Amino acid sequence: MAVAPARGFSLSAAAGGAPLLFRQLFDADTGTFTYLIAEVASAEGLLIDPVFEQHDRDLSLIQELGIQLVACLDTHAHADHVTGSWLMHDATGSVIGLAAVAGAENVTLPLRHGDQVAFGSRALEVRATPGHTDGCLTFVLDDHSLAFTGDALLVRGCGRCDFQQGNAHTLYRSITEQILSLPDSCLLYPSHDYSGRTLSSVSEERAFNARLGGEADERDFVGYMENLELPHPRRLAVALPANLRSGRPRGHTPPDPDGWAPIRRSYAGLPQLESHWVSEHRDSLTLLDVRSADEFNGPDGHIPGSLLIPLQDLEQRLGEIPTGQPLVVLCHSGSRSALATQELLKAGRSQVANLRGGLRAWQREGLPLEHPMPTPAQPTP
Ligand code: FE
Repeated sequence: MAVAPARGFSLSAAAGGAPLLFRQLFDADTGTFTYLIAEVASAEGLLIDPVFEQHDRDLSLIQELGIQLVACLDTHAHADHVTGSWLMHDATGSVIGLAAVAGAENVTLPLRHGDQVAFGSRALEVRATPGHTDGCLTFVLDDHSLAFTGDALLVRGCGRCDFQQGNAHTLYRSITEQILSLPDSCLLYPSHDYSGRTLSSVSEERAFNARLGGEADERDFVGYMENLELPHPRRLAVALPANLRSGRPRGHTPPDPDGWAPIRRSYAGLPQLESHWVSEHRDSLTLLDVRSADEFNGPDGHIPGSLLIPLQDLEQRLGEIPTGQPLVVLCHSGSRSALATQELLKAGRSQVANLRGGLRAWQREGLPLEHPMPTPAQPTP
């Protein structure tokens, strides 16, 4: 069976490798970067350091780009945020990769130095880079053009060494022997940044890293790290135990606000429903059409029983929308209704979703439409 290639722009095929798709995502609350890397031809991909609270965002991007997620990899057992790996495993069947030495539950791909994690014809090479924690890993792309350094090496900095089995001597050796030994041009993508810096390179960090760059040696580095006196991460007590379960929620899970329907959120954050589901559940939904009256009564027709409130009148006419049933909003293509959906959510409606693809998708599926009776032609005298 032919595999659909992933949608999106690709990195150039460095060193002759198959083209890749690459995305850097950010969680502003914890300053965490999540990375999506996939081979375009096979659409197989990996997600690195997903954040629990960003699961919906990450899943919708993976679905919109058509990626078959092979694995979620965590660079280490984080102390500042909970991993989204288990949620992603639950949603897509992807395996969960973490250093074997971390000893976490639910890990299906225990990783060791020298392992290769394949996606399509490409792979990430696993390098042990302990020192921040003893389970820290750096993932290096097969052609050595880029590396995901976790908290071992940050842009102009590095992870702390004062808890979670941290050791500054070990970290110095990990960084110099396993990361700064890569080619000068190798791009480095860290787990965190708190100042808007997104990536670096081996040559830059060798020259300018504030803790070990330039002329600094192991003594200088250890002296720096042992005098940092940082406060403990605010989420330590929650994050570490949760990460030792790979982010699997324990006990009672809060009710899902989208539980009333098979909502699929777009990467833009919009709750959406498919035409066929809306059609099957037509009797228990209010359908709100936000096109103009001319379109509603024109040749495109409308869904029988749908309520017409043009987008520009929505704010003034919110009171006309029945509140007893969930609301599905629609227009010609799904774009004006997307704005209306956002307006309704802002106005406090909870069970509301956009009709994905609008009337065009509805029509393509052959679902019923009502057309106004044509005006009878006037007899000519
Ligand atoms: Fe960390």
